[in-house]
Amino acid sequence: MSNDSKPITISNCPVCDGKHTYSLKVERSTVLKLMTLQDMQERPRRVHFTRIFTCPKELKDFQATFILYDTSSSRIKSVDVINE
Ligand SMILES: [Zn+2]
Repeated sequence: MSNDSKPITISNCPVCDGKHTYSLKVERSTVLKLMTLQDMQERPRRVHFTRIFTCPKELKDFQATFILYDTSSSRIKSVDVINE
């Protein structure tokens, strides 16, 4: 298991039309396995997530969808939004 956080920028907030930066806390489950040639050629999978963000100006919530990538040996388990 590993954690990493990624910055994400919403360039046009649906509430105030402004630009906000958030952090995504991404939890991955790492699968230990022997790498095969096929694994090394594996293209990361695009995974869509929809989460609630809070506009820091108006303090209103809105939904946004974003894309993260994972592979069969590093699956995304959960994604949390951290307001900055
Ligand atoms: Zn906003």
